[in-house]
Amino acid sequence: MDIFWTSGVFSFILKCVLCSGTATKWTYGGAVGQSEWNEFFPECGGSSQSPINVDTSEIQHDPTLIPVEPLGYNHPGKKPFILSNNGHTVQMTLPNWMGIGGLPWHYRTVQLHLHWGNGMGMATGSEHTINGQSASAELHIVHYNTEVYANISEAMTQKNGLAVLGILIEVDKEVNQAYGSIFNYLGRIRFAGQKVAIPSFDVQSLLPVNLNHYFRYNGSLTTPPCHQSVLWTIFRESVKISQSQLIKLETVLYSSQAEEEVMALQNNYRTTQPLNHRTVLSSFIPGIKVKLYTAGEIAAVVVGSLCGCIGLTVIICFIVKTIRTQGKPKEHKQDVDLKVSEPEKSKDASCSPQRET
Ligand SMILES: [Zn+2]
Repeated sequence: MDIFWTSGVFSFILKCVLCSGTATKWTYGGAVGQSEWNEFFPECGGSSQSPINVDTSEIQHDPTLIPVEPLGYNHPGKKPFILSNNGHTVQMTLPNWMGIGGLPWHYRTVQLHLHWGNGMGMATGSEHTINGQSASAELHIVHYNTEVYANISEAMTQKNGLAVLGILIEVDKEVNQAYGSIFNYLGRIRFAGQKVAIPSFDVQSLLPVNLNHYFRYNGSLTTPPCHQSVLWTIFRESVKISQSQLIKLETVLYSSQAEEEVMALQNNYRTTQPLNHRTVLSSFIPGIKVKLYTAGEIAAVVVGSLCGCIGLTVIICFIVKTIRTQGKPKEHKQDVDLKVSEPEKSKDASCSPQRET
């Protein structure tokens, strides 16, 4: 999770200085890379860090976890959203009337941003992993606790101060129009520090369909200063974007400013951190997988079932016809027998009255 440029946070980062007194500029794989973060930002070496690997054989079902409820996500308003390249990620500010329900406190939206991989369109790039498996990218929607804290600067340093929704992103055939609402403007913010106003859109369309099934745990910001203040919700269902959309996300942006030597903005994800005896809760009973089918899959099942029924009907008709065909000579013989016996019967009958008389 990158909230580096969130209001009030930038000033905090500037105050975080090295012993020499110079401001610390962190990176993912270069100077002050993630293995060195804890030297400059002590909380990055804490015991409740994010992201984590979710081992589904170790999670604990919590029946009190109710569905996450996006509030106002589908009312974006007419004011444009601001999309920016902060050198670490692409970030979009969100209106303050949006929030999430279904958590112990009310949380208000601040921003969303993404993490991704190396430009090869591979399934590496997500921060959280499920049973050791990465997704291709990950969306984070950041909120702060308005019931307890006055602003995000205060909330981000305190326990339960932030709530972040994590959405795993995988590649499929179809272009995802909702994500296109962001990706279509990446070319306007190629360099760090650039911003663009984009048309507002339904933010809820970025979420998976099933908001009932998720993992929940206490963790941290996944970027310096790594404050351990985040209540994480990782949805079980991923969202899908096309291969070309993923390649675009992975290759269009630079971590460098326009006047600097060009540096691709790639692999902006932190490696998974030790769980350290934390419990990962699930809102669903582990082991029972509820698959939500697409319209195409449902159509395929219906057509397949119809074809199966027709095929079965044809086979049954064929068998019945074959049985009848084999049975016909017998019936013919019976007819002959009947025809033979009938005249005898009638003869007997015609004789009876004579006998009676
Ligand atoms: Zn993030």
